[in-house]
Amino acid sequence: MAEKNLDVAARLRRALACFEPYDPAFTPCRVNLSANENTHPLPVGVRAAIDAALLATPLNRYPDPMANELRDELAARHGLSRDRVCVGNGGDELLFNLLFAFGGPGRALVTCPPDFSEYANFAAMCETEVRAVWRDAEDFSVDADALVAAAAGAALVFLTSPNNPTGDLLPHDTLRRVLDETDALVLVDEAYVEFAPEGSSVADWVASEPRLVVLRTLSKAFGLAGARVGYVLADPAVVDALAAVRQIYSVDVLAQAAGLAAVRCRDQLAPVVADIVAERARLAAGLAALPGVRTWPSEANFVLVRVPRAAEVRRRLRDEHSVLVRDFSAAPGLDGCLRLSVGTREENDTLLDALATLVREEQ
Ligand SMILES: *Cc1c(COP(=O)(O)O)cnc(C)c1O
Repeated sequence: MAEKNLDVAARLRRALACFEPYDPAFTPCRVNLSANENTHPLPVGVRAAIDAALLATPLNRYPDPMANELRDELAARHGLSRDRVCVGNGGDELLFNLLFAFGGPGRALVTCPPDFSEYANFAAMCETEVRAVWRDAEDFSVDADALVAAAAGAALVFLTSPNNPTGDLLPHDTLRRVLDETDALVLVDEAYVEFAPEGSSVADWVASEPRLVVLRTLSKAFGLAGARVGYVLADPAVVDALAAVRQIYSVDVLAQAAGLAAVRCRDQLAPVVADIVAERARLAAGLAALPGVRTWPSEANFVLVRVPRAAEVRRRLRDEHSVLVRDFSAAPGLDGCLRLSVGTREENDTLLDALATLVREEQ
């Protein structure tokens, strides 16, 4: 008789055998500062422009696969030509597609953990070896010599600036060295760069560095995490490769319309970003004043903190104060760390008050 067992583990592609569905550990809370979203309401004018664009979008036709209208607006934003822009279903799709296109068995991706955990996940799915160059345990800096050495012969290098979850920028001279001294395709993930000082982005290097790929997203500063729009700036040949492997309709008509309206309104979003940057300083100062709490400087819309009994503090923040933050206390290199997204002034005050109480009680 035929075997009736559904032995999924045995049927799965071997590289996927140990994967489990992603669990964002989300619990509905009054204040959600766990996912680095922009928690400010969109400015009224931006919201109105998006709503009007959505209303005017027919749903019966397939999307433009390459999102050319949005692509042109993004190209204009960065002073590049359209053929250097590829839009994706969030930055995540583009990270996956880069590994799908340029990784694979026998090829390596170099990363600098602790960093965005999706890099290693997507690499594993794409059967790409990960070479980790661990950051300094104290200040999270990247050892440029070690990075260059690890990147020798690697297919890909993923660098994050500002880095998630540590908040620090990648020094430009480190990137310079990786580009000059290795042959790898180098992705700089700038998901949070709008929150960093002017001049932090390397987007304007793309025109002269064929092996540089810069990733951006509308999920963070633009406040559109739910719409799933990200993009890369890259050499036209890299864009063509990404265009060839992508799911053709991954960026739907509503996402394209909302993204285009938001990017056109980017000047109206600048005060929101400025407010988050100011709140980041206020939050960091408030945290630094708490006994036994360590923080690191951040150029993003979150702050990493080390607190005594972090997992318990995180649980009590959620259960007793209805404040959700991200627990990294069990992650390698992030002992005792929580990541706090910067919210509105009111949200940050709620978080600070709750933390002050819990840190005192947990001492
Ligand atoms: C949030 C984030 C992204 C992209 O997120 P999407 O919502 O998929 O655009 C990429 N890299 C890092 C480091 C992030 O934190």
